[in-house]
Amino acid sequence: MSDDLRIDRVETVLVDIPLRRPHRFARASMNAQPVLYVFVRTAGGITGTGEGVVPAGPWWGGESVETMQVIIERYIAPILTGRRVDEIGTLQRDITDVVAANLFAKAAVEVALHDAWARSLGIGVHALLGGAVRSSVPVTWALGTEPAPVVVEEALGKLDAGLHHSFKLKMGADEPAVDVSRVEAVAEKLAGVAGVRVDLNARWDRLTSLAHLPRLADAGVEMVEQPVPGSEIETLAEISALLPIPVMADESLRTPSDALRLARLGAADIFAVKTTKCGGLRASMEIAAVGAAAGIPSHGATSIESPLGTAASLHFACAAPGVTWGSELFGPLLMAEEMAVEPLRYADGHLHLPEGPGLGIDLDPDKIRAFRRD
Ligand code: MN
Repeated sequence: MSDDLRIDRVETVLVDIPLRRPHRFARASMNAQPVLYVFVRTAGGITGTGEGVVPAGPWWGGESVETMQVIIERYIAPILTGRRVDEIGTLQRDITDVVAANLFAKAAVEVALHDAWARSLGIGVHALLGGAVRSSVPVTWALGTEPAPVVVEEALGKLDAGLHHSFKLKMGADEPAVDVSRVEAVAEKLAGVAGVRVDLNARWDRLTSLAHLPRLADAGVEMVEQPVPGSEIETLAEISALLPIPVMADESLRTPSDALRLARLGAADIFAVKTTKCGGLRASMEIAAVGAAAGIPSHGATSIESPLGTAASLHFACAAPGVTWGSELFGPLLMAEEMAVEPLRYADGHLHLPEGPGLGIDLDPDKIRAFRRD
């Protein structure tokens, strides 16, 4: 039994998954989402899978699927080989001795270890995290940076279909005054029927934020995400104190230490927790726990993961008591191809925790072959 849990091989496969529509951020746009699948194969014949993924390239945090592949194959795989999938704590310590930072790459590996371990026990990954405290999470839809009529039409379509009841608008691609007018127009059209939130993706500076964010609050925007650069936590605190609506930290929050600092400075009302940027499931649980201890709810945020990475984030979001501010786990809905044998279930504005061992998701080998990068 114990030898069955030993890791025989670690493999990675890079795929480019086509999207239904281009997805735009302030500084980047994509027509396909690159994803690095990491397979951890045990002597007992079990395969655990993890997903390395960032939103549209290295602009967000410096890592890309290409850097993750090198870091994992060259530096992390040799540490894993011959070790057991159930010694995650010591493996993480040993990996950190060799590889600093690179939290997205480490997350892909850490999730694969959890998937393999849970599969070997015949239980869901959430059980390894203490068990599910909820079986589904609400899912906000992210609208792009297109003109107001385009995003309003998309939002109304989603509302009519009962798919989503709140929307997050990406900002920061236009001049601030133009951008604010666009969001005001959208918020006006959706007033009373759906919540509107905005994500600046760290694009504005302090003065731009102080000048323009109050207008968004006046227009009925219900939450502002990361207006200023990640390192400017003091400015985030100043903005939080100024605005009558909640401020969410994303780029400013990667580690439990970041969470503690944000909480102590009163710099965030909500934590955006991504299993990817935070280095995996365990660090995400710790961050949500710091938030809960400080009275700060967490939100299940996304790096636009495929069904596999989305399932990992969902197991976290269902296991962490502090994730009470919903999610944006819409990645698979943005993709034009279904990568899983059995799709994740979206219904009634919620994403539902899959049953079955491990992450509860099996990737379709034909789809991996079809979209594999040469
Ligand atoms: Mn964000």
